[in-house]
Amino acid sequence: MPTIAETICRQYEDGKCPDCGDNIPDTMVDGGECANCGHVFYAPESDSERIESLKNLLSSRFGRDDQAMSEALDDLVHDLASQIGSSINNGGLDSQIEFISEQCGDFAVKTVADHIEGEG
Ligand SMILES: [Zn+2]
Repeated sequence: MPTIAETICRQYEDGKCPDCGDNIPDTMVDGGECANCGHVFYAPESDSERIESLKNLLSSRFGRDDQAMSEALDDLVHDLASQIGSSINNGGLDSQIEFISEQCGDFAVKTVADHIEGEG
């Protein structure tokens, strides 16, 4: 098992702070700060660890109220999805068609046809 310091150093290019380029000391801990610029280092998490961390964060604030947790995330999910949408639109026609095809599968052609009709 690598130590947390090894893991943190390994996920940062060349074991250097991404903000100031200082070497990350071997003694660095998860959540520790760069002595030079204050950048906070985090050890990488697996998907399931990350999901667990998110759930812990939410229950520490909202207890076991799933409805409140979900409502707290509504705007954020909208914002993130909207950013994805912008990025796809900025990618141009191919990127848009690929996305619609992936999202809608067998209904892609009908969805676009209905949309174009609605626009016209
Ligand atoms: Zn730094």
